[in-house]
Amino acid sequence: MTRIAHRLATVTALVALLALFSIRPAAAQQFLRDAETEALFADISAPLVEAAGMRPDNVEFVLINDDSINAFVAGGQRVYIHSGLIASSDHVGQLQAVIAHELGHVAGGHIIRLQSGVNDASTISIASLLLGGLAMAAGGGEAGMGAMLLGQQVARTRFLAFSRTQETSADIAGASYLSAAGISGRGSIEFFKKLQNQEFRYAIPQDNSYQRTHPLSGERVSYLQNIYENDPAWRRANDPALEARFQRVKAKLIGYLDPARALRDYPHARDDAAARTARAYAYHQGAYPEQALAEVEALVAAHPDDPYLLELKGQILLESGHPAAALAPLRRALELAPDEPLIATALGHALVATEDESRFDEAKTVLRRAVLQDRYNPFAWYQLGVIYEREGDTPRAALASAERFHMLGQHKLALASARMAMNGIGQGPDFIRAQDIAMVSEHELRKAGEEIR
Ligand SMILES: [Zn+2]
Repeated sequence: MTRIAHRLATVTALVALLALFSIRPAAAQQFLRDAETEALFADISAPLVEAAGMRPDNVEFVLINDDSINAFVAGGQRVYIHSGLIASSDHVGQLQAVIAHELGHVAGGHIIRLQSGVNDASTISIASLLLGGLAMAAGGGEAGMGAMLLGQQVARTRFLAFSRTQETSADIAGASYLSAAGISGRGSIEFFKKLQNQEFRYAIPQDNSYQRTHPLSGERVSYLQNIYENDPAWRRANDPALEARFQRVKAKLIGYLDPARALRDYPHARDDAAARTARAYAYHQGAYPEQALAEVEALVAAHPDDPYLLELKGQILLESGHPAAALAPLRRALELAPDEPLIATALGHALVATEDESRFDEAKTVLRRAVLQDRYNPFAWYQLGVIYEREGDTPRAALASAERFHMLGQHKLALASARMAMNGIGQGPDFIRAQDIAMVSEHELRKAGEEIR
């Protein structure tokens, strides 16, 4: 493994690899950020979100690095999807069916009761499980700006989840969203059958608690199949453009997370975009930059105006030690996709990595745009901090650190950095921002019973 790790703090490392940013809050779930994947989530879910009576802009999808097949919601309009769910979905219709079900929980405002086996029967805002066996619980507190800090609050519990009534209600709601969006329920049925096979194969224990709180998969399949088969969309094929995008995202995830599987599942005999993407990631992960570049050059030659392939080319060059060469493809990618803060972040990273100070102004411009556009981008704050530090602007470097630690849920470090920033930054919006972070961090520390000095 030649992962280039950017140490952010003693306890928190953020790994930027290719286009995929993985962010690991202390002892918690690891989120994966990727522009292409997030754009796919948004596009395949938009008609379902609208059918659910919500606005697509308001619903967030978060990719979690976990190879188990799962998706869940945890309060708010946010759907968490495991990488394992994508890697084991055969086509986009299966993923859409899962999303439709989860949106059924969101729209239904479902709240579960934690059944931790201890005496904790308090109601918490939490999670749906498609598959029983494993559950995650998040505390309700989502204080202000600390949007995606689920990780810190997530605890694994032995089981849990929505009531049978709520599962059924989410099933029915999900089926109606698929119908309204004109998407076949075939994916849903196939997916349930896949889960049943998994349960069989891995002998996931069907203990009493699970049976009590979840309808059996068999019942769900036959019940839903009856609804789907009577829907006009039942025989409709997937949208070919979305399907092609899905296959590329799946290939990318497999290449990134499981290079050995990528080389097995996407042999050289295949030269389609998905296969080349999988191999490009796999080779890059395995430290074979020439092979990775050969795959990506072929991809870019076939799709010269695809921002995500240009981004991939730039990332491979950057991470194999050629930041200056990465600039042209990344600049072009950003031109083609100006609203992709993760591509802007990659360009900012490459500009900083050249260590050429004449490029720092451009770096600041793209990174500032990235942090404005993006709800959760500690890595862009890290790069901004590097530039401020080099320029001798210590207070703004401290503010950038405060923003980053705040996002990562490192409240003590966020507070210390915010105070340091307030000491030197002078009156103005940056001072107010530092003050806000200090206040929120103090609040979080007090809530956690920590001593504040
Ligand atoms: Zn559910």
